[in-house]
Amino acid sequence: MAPNSDRPKSIIDSDERWVLAHECGHGAFFPFKLANDVVGWFLHSALFVPYHSWRITHSKHHKATGHLTRDMVFVPRDVNRYKLSRNLAELTEEAPLATLYFLFIQQLFGFPAYLVYNVTGQKYPSVSGFRRSHFVPSAPMFDARTSGIL
Ligand SMILES: [Zn+2]
Repeated sequence: MAPNSDRPKSIIDSDERWVLAHECGHGAFFPFKLANDVVGWFLHSALFVPYHSWRITHSKHHKATGHLTRDMVFVPRDVNRYKLSRNLAELTEEAPLATLYFLFIQQLFGFPAYLVYNVTGQKYPSVSGFRRSHFVPSAPMFDARTSGIL
């Protein structure tokens, strides 16, 4: 008997759900924008991720990945912070417990902190805390053209 065979299996697990949600955000799962938006909204909502604001910043991320001023998700570190993190990474790269710890921290706190406080995105010194959130349509990541659909 297979493990957990008595438990009903979800049609798709959460990783698969995220892949489908991601593809909808790119407009790639269906040939119609409306279908991508409707299914993407439901899938993202089930994962507690705001669909349209994520879709907008994620699109900007793909257009400018690693760009100092235009990437919306992973803004590269300055030289000093890069050297510090590189040294830490070199010290811990062969330590499974450190890898597990960083993975745990990233998955449990990193993505929610990005959505709520834009922690890895562009810095907006004049905008504080939650006002940089993906849950706030007037956040600086969104312009007048896109904030209307949020
Ligand atoms: Zn993508």
